[in-house]
Amino acid sequence: MSFAPLPQRVLIVENSRSYAGMLAEAVETRLNLPVVLARTMAEAQSALEQHHDIFLILSGLVLPDASQDDLIDRFSSTGLPLVVVSSKYDEELRDRILGRSVVDYVIKSAPGHLDYLTWLAQRLDRNRRIAALAVDDSPSARLMVAEQLSSYGFQVLLAANGEEGLAAVEQNPGIRLVITDHEMPGMTGVELAAKLRERYSRDRLAIIGVSGANKPELVARFLKNGANDFIHKPYSREEFFCRVSQNVDNLDLIGTLQDLATKDFLTGLSNRRHFFEVTAQRLDAMRRAPQALAVATLDIDHFKKINDTYGHDGGDIALKAVARAVTEHARTQDMVARFGGEEFVVFAPGLDAKSGWDYFEALRERIAAIVVELPDGQQFTLTTSIGVCVSPDGNQNIHALLSESDRMLYTAKAGGRNRVEMTATEA
Ligand code: GH3
Ligand code: MG
Ligand code: MG
Ligand code: MG
Repeated sequence: MSFAPLPQRVLIVENSRSYAGMLAEAVETRLNLPVVLARTMAEAQSALEQHHDIFLILSGLVLPDASQDDLIDRFSSTGLPLVVVSSKYDEELRDRILGRSVVDYVIKSAPGHLDYLTWLAQRLDRNRRIAALAVDDSPSARLMVAEQLSSYGFQVLLAANGEEGLAAVEQNPGIRLVITDHEMPGMTGVELAAKLRERYSRDRLAIIGVSGANKPELVARFLKNGANDFIHKPYSREEFFCRVSQNVDNLDLIGTLQDLATKDFLTGLSNRRHFFEVTAQRLDAMRRAPQALAVATLDIDHFKKINDTYGHDGGDIALKAVARAVTEHARTQDMVARFGGEEFVVFAPGLDAKSGWDYFEALRERIAAIVVELPDGQQFTLTTSIGVCVSPDGNQNIHALLSESDRMLYTAKAGGRNRVEMTATEA
C-alpha cells in the first residue's frame, strides 16, 4: 500500500473569467481542493507542464486557440479524467463527446449545475481510493468495463469468471464495487452475487449485475441474490457512469468510505491527507486565538530489523501497538496521524517547551515499555526517536513546523535513538 499523497489539483479551462472564478471558488471552498485556472489552450498546456498534482480537468468548449475536437483530443491524451462544461445542450455534440473518453458533459444553464459539478469533482477524487472489479468471460466486454471504470478514477481489477472474481475480492480488501456479467462458464453472475453477499454486507461492497440476455426475470434474480443494481446491455457511457456513481455514493453515505479517505488502513489512525486538512483548520483558528503548540514526528528505531526478525506480519503488529500507545497518550485536543511506514505525527495544542518536553518524554517511555506479543508467543520490545518543534503562539505553517520536527528527529537518530530532541521557535 502506498502512502504517497494523491494529486489534488483541479485544472479549470474556461474562456469566461467570471464563470471560471465562480467554478474555482466552488471547488476550493466546498471541496478544499486547489485549483489552477487557464483561459486558453496555451495556458492549459503550460499549467499541465508546471503542476504535477493535477488529477481532473474541467473544461469549457469555447477557447480562442483550439477547436472543440482539438481540445477534447489534447485533454483526453493526458489520461486525466475530463469533464466538459457547455453553455448549450446540443445532442449531436453530446453524442460526439460521450463517444470519446470524456467522463461527463454538463450544461451551464441547467439548474443546480454547480452543485452537480462539485459533486462530480468530489466523486472523481474519492473514486481513486476505491478498487473496482470487472467480472466478465468476454475479454472485450471486460476491458470495456475496466476502461470506463478507470476513466472515473477507480483502481481496476479484472476477473474472467465467478471463481476468479470471488478470490479477487477476498484478496483485495480495497475492492468496494463489483460489476459482473451473468452468463459465464462455471459460476454465473447471480451465483457470484449471492456468494459475495453472504460474506460482505451492503455497507462494505456494492454489486452491479450486467447482462445482454433478454430475460426480464434476470433483473429480479440479481437483486434478490444480493446485487444492488442491474444494467442492461447495451448501455450508454452516461447511464453506466450514473449507476456506478449512485451505488458508490450510497457506500459513501453509509460511511465506510469516509473512513477509507481519512484513515490509515492498518492502524485506524488518521492518514497524512486528513492530518493536513484538520491541522490547517486548527491553525486558522489559532491565528484568531493564539496559543502554544507542539508538533512532533516519531519514528520507530531499527524497524527494518523488526521486520527481518519477526516478519512483515510481526512488524504490522508492532505498528498497531505503537499506534495504540500514541492514541492512548493523546489528549482530546491532540491530532495523531500515521504519516508513512513507521512514522507518526502528533499535533498538540497548548504545549510549551516545558510541558511539551514532559509530554513527549513520557510518550517515549510509554512506547519503550510496550511488550509486543505475537500469535506464536514470541515477545519483543522496541523504541522510538521523537523530534519536537514548539511554537509559542501557533502562528506557523504546518509544513514549516513539520520540517523542523523532522530535523529534530534526525538529530535524535544521530544522537543514538530512543530519545527526544526539541526546538522552540521564536514568537
Ligand atoms: P531507523 O531507526 O533509522 O529509523 O531505522 P529503520 O529500520 O526504521 O529505517 P527505515 O525508516 O528505513 O525503515 C522503515 C521500514 O519500515 C522499511 C519498510 O519496509 C518498513 N515498513 C514500511 N511500512 C510498513 C508496514 O506497513 N508494515 C511493516 N511491517 N513494515 C513497514
Ligand atoms: Mg458472458
Ligand atoms: Mg522511517
Ligand atoms: Mg525507523
